[in-house]
Amino acid sequence: MQTNRIDAHGPWDAQADLIVVGYGGAGAATALTAHEAGASVILLEKAPRGEEGGNTRVAAQGYLNTSSADKARRYLNALCGPYTVPSSMVDVWAEEMCRNNDWFARMGGDPQEHQHQPAGIEFPDLPGADCVHKFHHGDILGFSKTWEALADAVTQRHIDVRYETPARRLIQDPASGEVIGVLAEQGGRTLRVGARKAVVLTCGGFENNQDMIRNFLPGLPYCYTSGTPYNEGDGIRMSMEIGADLWHMNNYAGPSMALKVPDFPTTLSMRPLHFSHELRGGMIVVGPDGQRFTDEKYKTRHGKIWQSGKWMPLRTPCPMYMVFDHTLFSNEPLYDGTQPSGWTPIMIGYTWSRDNRVELDKGWIQRAASLPELAAQLDLPPDVLSQSVATWNAHCAAGIDTAFGRTKMRNRFDGGPYYAVELSPSMLNTQGGPRRNEKAQVLRPDGSPIARLYSAGELGSIFSYLYQGTGNIGECFAFGRIAALNAVRETPRA
Ligand SMILES: Cc1cc2nc3c(=O)[nH]c(=O)nc-3n(C[C@H](O)[C@H](O)[C@H](O)COP(=O)(O)OP(=O)(O)OC[C@H]3O[C@@H](n4cnc5c(N)ncnc54)[C@H](O)[C@@H]3O)c2cc1C
Repeated sequence: MQTNRIDAHGPWDAQADLIVVGYGGAGAATALTAHEAGASVILLEKAPRGEEGGNTRVAAQGYLNTSSADKARRYLNALCGPYTVPSSMVDVWAEEMCRNNDWFARMGGDPQEHQHQPAGIEFPDLPGADCVHKFHHGDILGFSKTWEALADAVTQRHIDVRYETPARRLIQDPASGEVIGVLAEQGGRTLRVGARKAVVLTCGGFENNQDMIRNFLPGLPYCYTSGTPYNEGDGIRMSMEIGADLWHMNNYAGPSMALKVPDFPTTLSMRPLHFSHELRGGMIVVGPDGQRFTDEKYKTRHGKIWQSGKWMPLRTPCPMYMVFDHTLFSNEPLYDGTQPSGWTPIMIGYTWSRDNRVELDKGWIQRAASLPELAAQLDLPPDVLSQSVATWNAHCAAGIDTAFGRTKMRNRFDGGPYYAVELSPSMLNTQGGPRRNEKAQVLRPDGSPIARLYSAGELGSIFSYLYQGTGNIGECFAFGRIAALNAVRETPRA
């Protein structure tokens, strides 16, 4: 048996029944459920106070509450097919997803259904899809509201949260292999935090770990996130170190195309690329060969687009450039900092200049008098870029984009000057992590559970391929409860 050779016998700096690693939605749901069941909990959080909450805090705030376990089962199987998640997992997920509203209301939340149903059903043609019902807390959608309800519940119950205390390694009993605690870091000190019953990993995905992105995500040389900058794949590394199996590592909610500047850790989404914005002016996106490669205004299904008769991740040939004309530049800001979700709008709050000139001066936007000059600045083949714009103009004149079928913002380019913004692949979150079972226990490759180690949330999410929006926070609630209830049933260590 593989064990982590950290001294298991030294004194503990702190102890509780459950050590929950990561204070986002899954960590909150786990801690609240364990507390309700009478267990003591320490929540370890990497971020400083005020920046906790992970992706949950900056998400669009929707969570899934399915209306029928049977339909939910069929829908999840169809989303994950042809590869199937074990039926025991699907069953427990389907049962619990119907109970999210009851649980959330009991914790003090105010479940309100999103308007515009059934538009929120991401794959309405799949069997069971009409079980989808999306909810959020209170009257306003977004702006951290669902997160605030969870955080209020944690505060009211005086659950012990340790900020700026990242978990670094799991401690195992060398004889039994059981996970008995966590080595964490606080203010340059190493803390030994003991778990009398279990450790639950809820520390999110690897959105900010470029090495893991390169190794695990399909077709991406690099990628940035619009979510928390604190999720760096720590839970994956810690659980691998003690022999966990991994699953769903190549699934992620992305990519989209967005601006990433060194000034901020997270991406800025460009208004002209939003599927619902009809702005004035000409705009295309090209790859390193100077050619378009997609319908720039396509409403992807969390990064998947319909191609070759299948939902597949959007291709993102890097570097990509949004090339546009003076009409678009001079009309409206290219970025809207008042959006209801995303780390940059919610936590950073950058105010983009109304006339885009500050960002031009910063070099985030490039300008040239002619397309060949712009191409030279961007290191693109000048003839090809000019031809791409000419072809686009011809599509607009003909009223049909015969290359990619774009129907939105079909405006010809004016006569210059011309502009470009470099775009990077961007994602909401990754779905991969340690494989877990229907009790939320972390498993080894042979299917056996690593004793006293549990997980919940996007760290090893159940979504293996297609994703239903609001499914992640719904899963945080559901598997947070499952992990907590099973962990609390463990016999306390002597
Ligand atoms: C812009 C955006 C919009 C989204 N909208 C929705 C939506 O509306 N509905 C939906 O279902 N999903 C949405 N998602 C996805 C969803 O937010 C996440 O998948 C989900 O919130 C993940 O919850 P979690 O608790 O697993 O992880 P997180 O909420 O990310 O929490 C993980 C926590 O662990 C901490 N941490 C990391 N490493 C360590 C460590 N070593 N030690 C201690 N702590 C650590 C982090 O700081 C963080 O606080 C969105 C995501 C984004 C970015």
